Amino acid sequence: MTAPPDPSRNPPAVSRQTEQVFHGLGVSPGVAIGVAHLHDSGNVTVQEYSIAADRLECERVRFADAVARASRQVSLLQRRARSLPGSSGEELSYLLDAYQQMLKNSRLVRGVDRRISEEKINAEAAVQREIDQIVQGFAAMDDAYLAARIEDIRDVGRRLVRNLTKTHFEPFAQLPKNAVILAEELTPADTALLDPTKVAGFATVLGGTASHTAIMARSLGLPAIVGMTGLSNRASEGVPAVIDGTEGKVILNPTDETLVFYRSKRAEFLKRRRQLHRLRKIPAITLDGATISLQANLELSAEIDGVLAAGAAGVGLLRSEFLYMNRQDLPSEDEQYGELLKLVQRLDGRTLTIRTLDAGGDKMPQALGFGEGPNPALGLRAIRLSLKHPEILETQLAAILRVGVHGPVRILLPMVSSVEELQAVRDAMGQVVRRLKRRHVPIATPLPPIGTMIEVPGAALAADALARHSDFFAIGTNDLTQYTLAIDRADESVAHLYNPLHPAVLRLIQFSAEAALRARIPVSVCGEIAGDPRYTALLLGLGIRELSMAAANIPQVKQRIRTLDLVAATRRVRVIMDQPDSRRIAQLLDDFNADCVPLSDGE
Ligand code: PEP
Ligand code: MG
Repeated sequence: MTAPPDPSRNPPAVSRQTEQVFHGLGVSPGVAIGVAHLHDSGNVTVQEYSIAADRLECERVRFADAVARASRQVSLLQRRARSLPGSSGEELSYLLDAYQQMLKNSRLVRGVDRRISEEKINAEAAVQREIDQIVQGFAAMDDAYLAARIEDIRDVGRRLVRNLTKTHFEPFAQLPKNAVILAEELTPADTALLDPTKVAGFATVLGGTASHTAIMARSLGLPAIVGMTGLSNRASEGVPAVIDGTEGKVILNPTDETLVFYRSKRAEFLKRRRQLHRLRKIPAITLDGATISLQANLELSAEIDGVLAAGAAGVGLLRSEFLYMNRQDLPSEDEQYGELLKLVQRLDGRTLTIRTLDAGGDKMPQALGFGEGPNPALGLRAIRLSLKHPEILETQLAAILRVGVHGPVRILLPMVSSVEELQAVRDAMGQVVRRLKRRHVPIATPLPPIGTMIEVPGAALAADALARHSDFFAIGTNDLTQYTLAIDRADESVAHLYNPLHPAVLRLIQFSAEAALRARIPVSVCGEIAGDPRYTALLLGLGIRELSMAAANIPQVKQRIRTLDLVAATRRVRVIMDQPDSRRIAQLLDDFNADCVPLSDGE
């Protein structure tokens, strides 16, 4: 079958009729066919209220803060637009320059400020009134260029109101069926709100391949693309749209020929998925008889059906952040216990590995009410945040200890960088145990094992010491790659440099795995490479026998394991670990993978 025509890599603004193709990074495979829904197109409802004379100055400051924040957001987009290739980047830059002008000392900003003082109303309402007046003036001028600017002005107004209200933007309430969501950005919290029965797939301008949004897309089985060039707010709501998450393409207004091509591609993708699904009850054993434990990563409790359907041996990583997302308060001990209990019961004797709250970076729940700090990836996050706010950690530990009565659970600590952190958690657990016992609340006996995520280079280098204080290791290659190479995993502009095959990353994985094996504690890999069959031989050759991944990937990794000779893989990895160059490493790995015997259809 031939690929459909690719009209342009640098498309002009989208009309309702012409087919347009946009390119980005495919982060979750598959084909979505549906109608475009623009994430930023929802109208923001603004409440109007009066402001007392002595509060007017505060209100003006609040507005100035919202403008400054909007300007920072647009600067970020401008930087990214400049790195886009061809005229799409240029076109986007012009648009964003205009946004930036509107946020300077413009008529809009001056007008809103004046309305707050003179009309004594809240800033959101002042923005709304000023925008309405400007738009009315433009519309009366009968000038095509100015008419086209109306949407830009409204867009700036929506951004200001969102910054002012700090309300979570929930645009997914009235989605068309088979919605193809086109957005500037989707946060992991937004992605958690997507209903896979309504949403066919999504594409965003911002975001990297290892961002949590991309991970969620893979978990939900939604075809997805990030780093979309030139799309921005140039598409129209409701136009037919196709997402090819494998190739990283969005096609708006596809021709009949294109639709035929993608319907057939989607059917092939789904057929292959069904074939792989038949592997769910077959064990993951290499050709030379080594059994590998394949577990699932879980980001939302709703995914548990998929975990069971994929034949996972257990949950190797429950990202507990879902308990804290899209709400204004913190979950109580009872609430957490209730949620975890449902999972433990469904797992029916399989182990549930619960990671304590990994807040920070690209996933800071609103309920915590903390700012991001100057460098969120290196700031007060994950286990550091839990130790700084012991009430958060202790509530979570109490819920886990209680749920451990009903089935096997393990506790996993994110972003550990020192033995002291492990000791502090063990002390906190001791206190929680004493408190629960005093209240005669039943808790797990023996106490659940406490494991360490190895995802900070310093932790990998100190793996020997950490192994002595840990009951198990889980190597988080997503963050380990990010921190080792100093590449923001959520930034599409450096996504091409994000490379788990870099020799430094591989040495840290090897070092950690060997430390765990020496200390005789279990060690798994739960980063995204665990779910990609390209890396299976490499990880097994490094001594890993437990992999945890998006449930949907288990069958394809199992298939790879069943075609793999562990002795040969170990020999190849020895050669790979002597290479100084990631390109050569990739070649040696890909050649090894290409030589494997494919399984017959259906196995
Ligand atoms: C990792 O960093 O590899 C990991 C599994 O944790 P997360 O992706 O949730 O940061
Ligand atoms: Mg991590």
